[in-house]
Amino acid sequence: PAAPAARGGLFGRLLGRGGGQAVMRRELDDDMLESLEELLIASDMGVDTALRVTANIAEGRFGKRLSVDEIKALLAQEIARIMEPVARPLPLYPKKPQVVLVVGVNGSGKTTTIGKLASQFRAAGKSVVIAAGDTFRAAAVEQLQVWGDRAGVPVLTAAQGSDPASLAFDALAKAQADGADLLMIDTAGRLQNRADLMEELAKIVRVIRKKDPDAPHNTLLVLDATTGQNALNQVETFRKLADVSGLVMTKLDGTAKGGVLVALADKFGLPIHAIGVGEQIDDLAPFDPEDFAAALTG
Ligand code: GDP
Repeated sequence: PAAPAARGGLFGRLLGRGGGQAVMRRELDDDMLESLEELLIASDMGVDTALRVTANIAEGRFGKRLSVDEIKALLAQEIARIMEPVARPLPLYPKKPQVVLVVGVNGSGKTTTIGKLASQFRAAGKSVVIAAGDTFRAAAVEQLQVWGDRAGVPVLTAAQGSDPASLAFDALAKAQADGADLLMIDTAGRLQNRADLMEELAKIVRVIRKKDPDAPHNTLLVLDATTGQNALNQVETFRKLADVSGLVMTKLDGTAKGGVLVALADKFGLPIHAIGVGEQIDDLAPFDPEDFAAALTG
């Protein structure tokens, strides 16, 4: 499905004001550029990125008369250009099992995303193992088991409160013994105690490297797109806690503020491996810059 990044789209709210003005020409003057900036900032693009985008649109066109549709197309083009380099599916390694560590704050959609990814990999003929590494939250473990059942993938669990690193080690041993293609390790998302979480994630990495010095091959940060600018802070925080290699943006079906993805791409350049577009198992799509730009500008 196309990413319904922004219901209604940006232009529904600005340039179409008064209705039926899509073909009306307006001068690309300071007022117009300011309105564009406001619109982009309201979509959670962040001030720096919004200013850069409008400056690029204005370059060589300032003072010209453009139709709303033309401005919209320019904006979509500019956004797609920024997003193009980050639209990259999860890289697959020839080495088995590929170990994917999944990090993110609670509620961001980690469990759901792991379930969806597991299902996709299964459909592609890969064998998958999941480790329920958030051993403190019984509900998280149960939820992951539900997703594992849906995807037809085994979920390894440990007693509540037990060491996630030891579970991760056992899970990798099992994945290796079974000849699995992929091991996904869920992790805790308690940001309240960062030092603890950092130590927990570092220990998981340390311990799995005893079995495979290259693990984890990917560290996926799952971000909730509806948290807007907060997503930027989460990237900054998690990059200090773990060696984040790529992003999955969830809940793009439920936000008019998808602009934060542009800010993220502009600021960090981390690949966006997939987007969550709903709560069902098939609601995980590759990130498509052009669809996204079209939906955002709409
Ligand atoms: P976790 O705490 O990070 O493991 O988060 P969960 O996977 O439990 O997800 C939290 C909530 O977000 C659940 O109600 C999910 O159904 C919902 N959710 C996750 N991904 C998406 C998505 O892409 N779209 C929508 N609409 N909801 C999502």
